[in-house]
Amino acid sequence: MKNYEIIDADVVVLGGGTSGIFLALYLVSKGFRVALVEKTQKLGGALANNLVYPTAGFHTPNFKYVYSPLVDEFLRELEQKKFSLGHIKDPLNFSSTITPLSTTSYKLLTSKLLEYNNFYFFPLSTIKQIKSKDYKIDSLFFNSYGKNYKAKGKIFVDASGILISSYFLPIEYYFDLENTQAMSLIFKVSNVDFNLILRDLKNNPQEFYHKTDPELIKSQKFLSVSGYFSLAKRYLNNQSLLLSRDRFLFFSYIDKNSVIVNTTRLFLKDLIKPEKILNQDTSSIEYIEKTSYKILLKQVFYIHSIMREHIDGFKNSYISEIADYVGIRQYRNVKGNYTLTFEDIIKGNFFEDTISIGTWPIDIHISNSIIEKRINENGYGIPFRCCINNYKNLIFIGKNISADRYAFSSCRIQASLMILGENMGRILEFCLENKINPTDLDYKHIKKTVKVHLK
Ligand SMILES: Cc1cc2nc3c(=O)[nH]c(=O)nc-3n(C[C@H](O)[C@H](O)[C@H](O)COP(=O)(O)OP(=O)(O)OC[C@H]3O[C@@H](n4cnc5c(N)ncnc54)[C@H](O)[C@@H]3O)c2cc1C
Repeated sequence: MKNYEIIDADVVVLGGGTSGIFLALYLVSKGFRVALVEKTQKLGGALANNLVYPTAGFHTPNFKYVYSPLVDEFLRELEQKKFSLGHIKDPLNFSSTITPLSTTSYKLLTSKLLEYNNFYFFPLSTIKQIKSKDYKIDSLFFNSYGKNYKAKGKIFVDASGILISSYFLPIEYYFDLENTQAMSLIFKVSNVDFNLILRDLKNNPQEFYHKTDPELIKSQKFLSVSGYFSLAKRYLNNQSLLLSRDRFLFFSYIDKNSVIVNTTRLFLKDLIKPEKILNQDTSSIEYIEKTSYKILLKQVFYIHSIMREHIDGFKNSYISEIADYVGIRQYRNVKGNYTLTFEDIIKGNFFEDTISIGTWPIDIHISNSIIEKRINENGYGIPFRCCINNYKNLIFIGKNISADRYAFSSCRIQASLMILGENMGRILEFCLENKINPTDLDYKHIKKTVKVHLK
C-alpha cells in the first residue's frame, strides 16, 4: 500500500462489536491510545447491525448475577435512560433471565467512546495486510473511507467475530462446515396484538416450547414465543428459499407493541462449496454476506406474510425494520492455548485465569431444530488462555475464542462477551504498564487484575 498515514496506538482493535467496544472503552478510559478498525459504518456489532435481541447471559442457572463493574454501570445507565427493561425472568425458562436492550443502546457507547481524544475510530475499513515477525505483529494496513493507513500498535486484538486475522496470518482455527450454526436475518414487526398471542399460548400450549410460562408473559407484559409448531411444519420448509425451521421465534421489543422476529435461517453448507470458504481470500466472506443477505431477505418477507395470514395477533402488523447485515452465529474460531470444552461447561469448571463467566445453555441452531442442554448451575469460567495462541501480542476476543462447538454455543452470548471485553481491557492495561507480552503473563496477575464475580 502506498501513501498511507501512520497511526501510532497502544492497542489496535479489529472489529467494534460486543466484545471490542467494551475492551476499547475500558482502555481509553485509562488513557491508552486505541485504534478501532471497523468494517461497517457503526459501532455495536451484532446488537447494532444484526438486531440481535434480547441480550442474555447475565445470570447463572441458579440465578446468581455475573457482575463486572464497567458493564454493570452501562446496564444501569441504559435502564435509567429507558433503553433497557433491566433483567427480567426468561418466560421460556430456557435460561434464568434475559435483558432486553434497545438496539440503539450502542449509540450511547459510541458517544462515550468518541468523547476520548485517545480513541481513533476507523469505520468503513478494509484490512489489506497484517505484518508480523517472529510471531509478533508489527502493523496493520487498511483503508478507511478511501484513505490508506498503517496502524502500529503494541498489542493487536481480533474482535471481528469471524477471525479476520486468519485471512492474513497462518493461524490455526476451528471450522466445521457440516455443523456450523445457522445464519439469520432478524427483523422487527410492529402493531402486534399482545393479547391475541397470549390467548394462543394459553389455549394451545402443545403448540409452544414446553417450558413456556404464559403467566409470566402476562405479568411481565413481555412476549417470548417459541412455537406455532403446526404452522411452521406447514410453511417453514420452503426449499426454494433454503428455509427449514420447526418454529416461529419472536420477543417483545422494549416498546411492547413490536416484536423482534428471529425465524429466518440459512446454513453455510447450503450456500457455498467448502473450497470457497476455506481458501485464504477474504472475498469468500464478502460472498457469503452478500449472497446470504439476498436469500434471507426473501425469507423475511415470506415469513411475515405467513404470520400476518395465519396468526391473529399479526393480522394488522407490518415490518418496521430489517437488520442491515446477516447475523453469522458461527464461523472460524481460533485454536488457542486452551480450548473450552463441553465437559468444562457441564462440570462448571473455573480456572486460575478465568476472565469471564458463562451462563447460557448449550444452544446449537442446526438442521431444522435447536440442540439444547443445561450447563452447570453455577456457570463456568472462560479462561484467558482461550484468547491467545502462539502470537505474542495478538489477542482473540468475542466469538473468536477457542472453544469446542458445545462450549462455543454457550459462551457466544452477549453478556459473557461484553464482560470478556471489559476484563481483557484490564489484562492489557497490566501488560502495557509492565511492558510484557500477553502470552508471557503470569496467571497470578490475571487473578488479581480481573474483576468479575457472582453475586
Ligand atoms: C442471529 C444471531 C442471533 C443471536 N441471538 C442472541 C440473543 O438472542 N442474545 C444474545 O445475547 N446473543 C445472541 N447472539 C450472539 C451474540 O450477539 C454474538 O455472539 C456477539 O455479539 C458476538 O460478539 P463479538 O464481539 O464476537 O462480535 P460482533 O458483535 O459480531 O462484532 C464483530 C464486529 O467486527 C466487525 N468486523 C467483521 N469483519 C471485520 C473486518 N474484516 N474488519 C473490521 N471489522 C470487522 C463487524 O462489523 C462487527 O462490528 C446472536 C447472534 C446471532 C448472529
